[in-house]
Amino acid sequence: MTMSNYDNPCIDCGACCAWFRVSFYWAECRDGGGVVPEELTEPLSPFLCCMNGTNQRQPRCQALSGEVGKSVRCTIYPSRPSPCREFNRAGEQGKPNDACDRARAQYGLPPLVNPGPG
Ligand code: SF4
Repeated sequence: MTMSNYDNPCIDCGACCAWFRVSFYWAECRDGGGVVPEELTEPLSPFLCCMNGTNQRQPRCQALSGEVGKSVRCTIYPSRPSPCREFNRAGEQGKPNDACDRARAQYGLPPLVNPGPG
C-alpha cells in the first residue's frame, strides 16, 4: 500500500519535531530497557531525558531527517519515545491539536484541515 500526502500530511511537515522539547522518562531508552537509542538523547534530570537537539532555543530533533515543511522522516520511527507516539496531528480522529497548529505556524504552515472521519 502506498500512502499519499493526503493520507498523512505529517510527511511533508515535521514542525512538531523541530519546535518542542521532546522529553520523557529515561527508562524509555535502550539502556533503561526501552527502545529509544540513548546516543540520540541527553539527560535533563535524574529521571528525564530528551531527544538531542530539542532542548535548545531553536529545537530540532537529531532524529529528524529532511526539510521541515517539505519532506521529512523520523529516522527512528519504530523506536521513537512516547511523546512522539502520543502526539496526534490536528484533525486526527476529528480532534483539534493546538500544539500541532502552533508548531506549524512557526514555520509559516497553515493549520491542518480536518479531513473528516477515518
Ligand atoms: S524522535 Fe522522531 S518523531 Fe520524535 S521528535 Fe524526533 S524525529 Fe520527531
